[in-house]
Amino acid sequence: GQCAAVCPTGALVERDYSWDVIEALADPDKVVVVQTAPAVRAALGEEFGYEPGTLVTGKMAAALRVLGFDHVFDTDFAADLTIMEEASEFLDRLTRHLQGDTSVRLPILTSCCPAWVKFFEHQYPDMLDVPSTAKSPQQMFGAIAKSYFAEQLDIPREKMVVVSVMPCLAKKYEAGRDEFSVDGNRDVDISITTRELAHMIRRANIDFRALPDEDFDRPLGESTGAAVIFGATGGVIEAAVRSAAEWATGKPLESVDFTALRGLEGCRSAKVPVGDLTLHIGIAHGLGNARKLLDSIRSGEVEPFHAIEIMACPGGCIGGGGQPYHHGHMEIIKKRMEAIYREDAGKPIRKSHENPYIKKLYEEYLGKPLGEKSHHLLHTHYFKRHRI
Ligand code: SF4
Repeated sequence: GQCAAVCPTGALVERDYSWDVIEALADPDKVVVVQTAPAVRAALGEEFGYEPGTLVTGKMAAALRVLGFDHVFDTDFAADLTIMEEASEFLDRLTRHLQGDTSVRLPILTSCCPAWVKFFEHQYPDMLDVPSTAKSPQQMFGAIAKSYFAEQLDIPREKMVVVSVMPCLAKKYEAGRDEFSVDGNRDVDISITTRELAHMIRRANIDFRALPDEDFDRPLGESTGAAVIFGATGGVIEAAVRSAAEWATGKPLESVDFTALRGLEGCRSAKVPVGDLTLHIGIAHGLGNARKLLDSIRSGEVEPFHAIEIMACPGGCIGGGGQPYHHGHMEIIKKRMEAIYREDAGKPIRKSHENPYIKKLYEEYLGKPLGEKSHHLLHTHYFKRHRI
């Protein structure tokens, strides 16, 4: 209705879709695939009495299996894919800019937060060519599941139901955007929140705390530390810098920890040396902070940035509207953030371009980042909307 048209975060249209998931799981003709966003594993445990900051990745995978999903996959896989495309796009724009091409727009803006995307479509129609055209991980996952993976299973896309578990209310709206479907069949059929998943687990009488730790399935369940940090403010841009820096210099990074990009300040900037170049990076979380940053760029009052990450929620997705309630306690957000960086630090692979299943996906199916097939499946465009 009217609210759906004007509310950038989707908070006014919170709808529980868990019954639709249960219906899909009960349908013997459907193959039901689930993906879970990076921030979910850092907060779901709070619904089952764990201390904030407890990672429940393994128990979550086990619970999803008990609930009956046919393939338990991870949005993190698609976050690695997002980095492949977004970091390539960034390097491409940066190289052309350094060569004096004045048609290139910098800074590149991240585009994986749908509330932020809707915000700039309404508020900054003159800047629609500035954000990265890379789809969000949720939507990249859906597009790949219903093409590459459906082909592997030898089933038509209509037979597959893609469910996403998100920290977010705006992801429900994103999944329903017209450009993310093929002949009326959506890439992501149903998006539920962390809280809705917790309700489903309770309704199914699953003793969450007693579950064993299990792994995600392959191939769309394998991910790197770079993907995990998507859940926290500053994480997307840090993940992009890890790949872009190695590609630009041709040398392995001495350290993948770009700690200057981390933190909880609402609006921050950092200088990151990459070879002979110093990247100037901006980060904002909360749409008020985003507006401040964008207005200062528009008016030219700040030193130009090369790249900016914007997330609508405080702390990034770990503080999202679909997460267990944190009642504004930043202490809880901080604990979830620490959990995310802990998971990253413990991963054997911490750079998206080194994910072996991502490499395989490009070799077998996509070709190369920004190639024709990637362009078709993994990139999108933005629309001018009425100001609100
Ligand atoms: Fe959703 Fe908030 Fe994350 Fe944006 S920052 S994708 S609105 S949870």
